[in-house]
Amino acid sequence: MMARIFSGIQPSGDLHIGNYLGAVKNWVQLQHQFETFICIVDYHAITAPYEPADLVRRTHDMAVGLLAAGVDPEKATLFVQSQVPEHTELAWIFNTITPLGELERQVAFKEKSARQEQVMAGTLNYPVLQAADILLYLADLVPVGEDQVQHLELSRVVSRNWNSRFSPAKPFFPEPQPRLTPTRRIMGLDGQAKMSKSLGNTIGLLEEPDAIWEKLRPAPTDPARQRKTDAGEPDKCPIIYQLHKAFSPEETVREVEENCRGAKWGCVDCKKSLLPNMLAELTPIREKARELQADRAQVSAALDLGATKARTVARETIKQVKDMMGLAREGLIANAMSAR
Ligand code: SF4
Repeated sequence: MMARIFSGIQPSGDLHIGNYLGAVKNWVQLQHQFETFICIVDYHAITAPYEPADLVRRTHDMAVGLLAAGVDPEKATLFVQSQVPEHTELAWIFNTITPLGELERQVAFKEKSARQEQVMAGTLNYPVLQAADILLYLADLVPVGEDQVQHLELSRVVSRNWNSRFSPAKPFFPEPQPRLTPTRRIMGLDGQAKMSKSLGNTIGLLEEPDAIWEKLRPAPTDPARQRKTDAGEPDKCPIIYQLHKAFSPEETVREVEENCRGAKWGCVDCKKSLLPNMLAELTPIREKARELQADRAQVSAALDLGATKARTVARETIKQVKDMMGLAREGLIANAMSAR
């Protein structure tokens, strides 16, 4: 049987290059090797302040971006979390076997609650819902970047806790393992932090060529290269070298290394050589997204198909979980009582 992978992504609207290289491009490849579930996690998104009309738009735009980037709804199960109510049902069940201390220790909770005047219970319980997202599909693997491996640990703890209480002889839930994403994290245009929409340091996946160039042109490079004649070190170039490695052919990457270290070209030349390689990959995605934006029915149909496929698996998991926990579902009480 094919191993299962689960990935979640926030409905943040348009994807940026960091999302694409750090996660989505990998999912597009994985959908050919694994039974792949990709979930737009709108229940997670509502733990932060938001506008309902804006959330609908962001969820739709995220679906457009994923489909345009190559997620195939016939291969992968692409769906929106709130279309599958079993996510919150399982999260509640997991809340009952997760010690409060485990949640209060989470670094993300400490960071988020420090920024909020009033901390909502959803902020604390966020990782329990994450565990439910993954374990609802009995996923074996979760594609993550190196910096996210620790986020998976709570899901493994939840799986162990539930199994030891309700299924000690033969574990029902797997302990999901990280599957490291090959591309390193992509730095934002400020050269200081990971590319992130909230920091405003992104290049949008669907941006027009001129807009991409306007962002690349002033992007910081190796500070040692003050003049064209100064030798540089590509590994100290926070953005452009990483983007060359992601988008350019190997011979171009070698040329970049040679020309940078040997001061054979300026950083603008290096950026000019990057742009067409980026556009070769991004233009078909932008065109596909334009087509999908004009055809909302196609996007809805893809998400409905995904929700139907996801619910089939989710219902079966919940049915078995309820049976093992003595919770009522259709027919269970009558069957259990007649067996006495
Ligand atoms: Fe970066 Fe290229 Fe400039 Fe070297 S030549 S510092 S790799 S932009």
